[in-house]
Amino acid sequence: MTRDYQLFINGEFVPAVSGETFESINPYNQEVVACFARGKDADIDKAVKAARKAFEEGPWSRLSGQERCDYIINLADKISEKSKELLPFEVADSGSTFKKAKGDFWLAANQLKYFGHLATTTKFEEILEDLSKPGVSKNYLLREPIGVCGQIIPWNFPLMMAIWKLGPALAAGCTVVLKPAEETPLSAMELAKLIQEVGFPPGVVNIVTGYGEEAGAALVAHPNVDKVAFTGSTEIGRHIMSEAACNMKRVTLECGGKSANIILEDADPDIAIDGSLYAAFFHGGQCCTAGSRLLIPASQKEQWVEQLVERARQIQLGNPMDKNTDLGPLVSQKQLNRVLSYIEKGKSEGAKLLLGGQKPSSEGLEKGFFVEPTIFGEVNNKMTIAQEEIFGPVLSIIPYQTEAEAVQIANDSIYGLAGGVWGRDTERAFAMAKQLRTGTVWVNEYHLISEKAPFGGYKQSGIGREMGPESLYEYTETKHIYVDELGSREKKFWYDTLIKPSSYSATTS
Ligand code: NAP
Ligand code: MG
Repeated sequence: MTRDYQLFINGEFVPAVSGETFESINPYNQEVVACFARGKDADIDKAVKAARKAFEEGPWSRLSGQERCDYIINLADKISEKSKELLPFEVADSGSTFKKAKGDFWLAANQLKYFGHLATTTKFEEILEDLSKPGVSKNYLLREPIGVCGQIIPWNFPLMMAIWKLGPALAAGCTVVLKPAEETPLSAMELAKLIQEVGFPPGVVNIVTGYGEEAGAALVAHPNVDKVAFTGSTEIGRHIMSEAACNMKRVTLECGGKSANIILEDADPDIAIDGSLYAAFFHGGQCCTAGSRLLIPASQKEQWVEQLVERARQIQLGNPMDKNTDLGPLVSQKQLNRVLSYIEKGKSEGAKLLLGGQKPSSEGLEKGFFVEPTIFGEVNNKMTIAQEEIFGPVLSIIPYQTEAEAVQIANDSIYGLAGGVWGRDTERAFAMAKQLRTGTVWVNEYHLISEKAPFGGYKQSGIGREMGPESLYEYTETKHIYVDELGSREKKFWYDTLIKPSSYSATTS
């Protein structure tokens, strides 16, 4: 039986104003997973009004940090309690493997706890010292919640992306309207039930399911939204940034990547081979940080390529619910077509196909949106497959002659999200990491994101940072309050500048 979900607005579950719905399908077998209300302008307007009321009149922004933290921690505990029950839904809705979804739930609960604690550790009010000029005064720096935030998230990490958005916004005292991806709204709506159970004040969190061009666009255009936070493609990120200019909404954008993963000559093959395959193929390459360009020393080309291809052959495709499956299907037919068209482009531009390249025909995988782990050799960094984000299991191997050339190739991209360097001499690897124009670099590791360290992109990979204390600052406005301590009119710096003492005394006598 199909599960039905309504919109979550002002603490209640309600149908869309239009009464319309849409379905999400299981990318493994194309069966319908659930049915969702199709939110549009009118629903977004209701949700924004609820969020505005909760922000202006409700207690949320005026609660103490500790009180907000308590709500958020309760929600994190509920996620942990429910994870076993909800995990199969996330797998069915998104095609995530069981292994990956299990990690997502664990991370989401822990990250949410961190964000909760930020509400208590952030200095929302502090005194600025040594500001005695231009007058004797006491000075305060206040970090105040921005207001009503529209948050738009993608399908690759459905629950985790919701948490990355909600956590810091709520900790800062903002109220929120969240729009999940049309392919994967299920875990966000289950989260809405937990938010209701925890008893968040009505309107603090509103979740409107629907399509990007409808619900998403309405949220970005709404004049009563103060900030938009978005994760998704660079193309839509650019569009959102220009639309948000209508009332100068604040924006944070976490967009695409084309990360370079660099193997140095002294890298340990035992970890660099598997690590690089993990960098490229984790979650079928549907990660903004995917190490989709692998740079190897030209002098050692044969040995690295041979081992990479050999190990990649062992990656197990299968039913994502099976705990032994390494690689599940892509999220949708649309994404499958997109990835296959990039593979064709790679071939037509002269890259050498070394492995995969097709939708697999094996028994049991027929209905799934699978693409074989695909490796291209002899890739030139100017090729389309080396420049554009594919978001599929497609690895481009690019040989380099010198380390300086490796840096130049790595940085020759419109993106700047992440990267990796593999080498036994970690000082040498660190020196290279410093030269990469990206927001994160892993040395002898990949994809590990800590809730305590800032995450985000240089260049067209985005604006702003998620995680770490910065994540909360992105949801605050800073205010300076100047309190005069001089008292005397004659000592004020303006006393004999703007208002002449003679005329001044004349008018007051
Ligand atoms: P997308 O269009 O950028 O979608 C991301 C989110 O934005 C979704 O919630 C989407 O709604 C919404 N959206 C779409 N158009 C919008 C608009 N005009 N105004 C406001 N919101 C809008 O990404 P996609 O089409 O799902 O995937 C395409 C490519 O984007 C992928 O192949 C990949 O390269 C990249 N991508 C990157 C990330 C990342 O983590 N950086 C994540 C996903 C995809 P709908 O769900 O209705 O589209
Ligand atoms: Mg789905």
